Amino acid sequence: MGKSSKDKRDVYYRLAKEEGWRARSAYKLLQIDEDFDIFRGVEKVVDLCAAPGSWSQVLSKKLNKTDFPDAKIVAVDLQEMAPIEGVIQIQGDITKQTTVEQILGHFDGEKANMVISDGAPDVTGLHDLDEYIQAQLLLAALHITTHVLENGGTFIAKIFRGKNVKVLYSQVKCFFKVVHIAKPRSSRNSSIESFIVCQDYRPPADYVPNMANPLLNVPLGVDPNKLTGSNLWTIPFVACGDLSGFDSDMTYPLEVSFENTNTHYFLHV
Ligand code: SAM
Repeated sequence: MGKSSKDKRDVYYRLAKEEGWRARSAYKLLQIDEDFDIFRGVEKVVDLCAAPGSWSQVLSKKLNKTDFPDAKIVAVDLQEMAPIEGVIQIQGDITKQTTVEQILGHFDGEKANMVISDGAPDVTGLHDLDEYIQAQLLLAALHITTHVLENGGTFIAKIFRGKNVKVLYSQVKCFFKVVHIAKPRSSRNSSIESFIVCQDYRPPADYVPNMANPLLNVPLGVDPNKLTGSNLWTIPFVACGDLSGFDSDMTYPLEVSFENTNTHYFLHV
């Protein structure tokens, strides 16, 4: 599908073209890293919903084979993706058991240090439906995470901050000691998209990862707005990326000189 003229005017879209990223999403991961230092000690990563591959490009660069000969990056998407150095690709649906098994096959008993998921459905415009599908992608990603992530590991996933988001927070908070919601500067303010950044994986003592995928069964009859006590966690919200940098909702001239601490960006078309 072609890019809308709004996308083409967007400063991060143009910057991505200039710097060789396949999508403007690369900046979201880089800006999350600025605040959460997510790559420290990381060598093995699963990138879910990875196409067209800008997050995988970031991983490939950060975990390059020269500095990290044992690095392993496994990327999954419904769609085919052009090859990226050092990235193993799986074309599959993350909500399907067969895909989970393929991912585990590549790890062969080893654990990942981080799982990231930028999954988004084709938005229908029906908010409840879009939010529901997004939540299912998040839970599918969490399900995969419980099988492959090492204790202490990190999980980052896109979420839509809709009206049922509290039940998702509660589910994720059962598995991680530290959970934040991040809104990178490059994510449009007008979008309900945010990223849940979950650090220090600590599954409940009696939790056994289960291929039957119990996480996908959102409790029936639960009104998330009436949750109390430990079922309702308050997640700190962090706006990340240089807050004096480009505003993703603004329109900029095609050639700008922009001072960002020591960095000057010049945009050309
Ligand atoms: N992180 C990517 C990047 O940096 O290039 C962008 C991801 S894009 C926003 C969302 C992706 O989610 C799409 O490529 C779509 O095919 C994928 N997706 C949606 N549902 C999926 C599913 N059930 N299984 C696997 N991938 C899925």
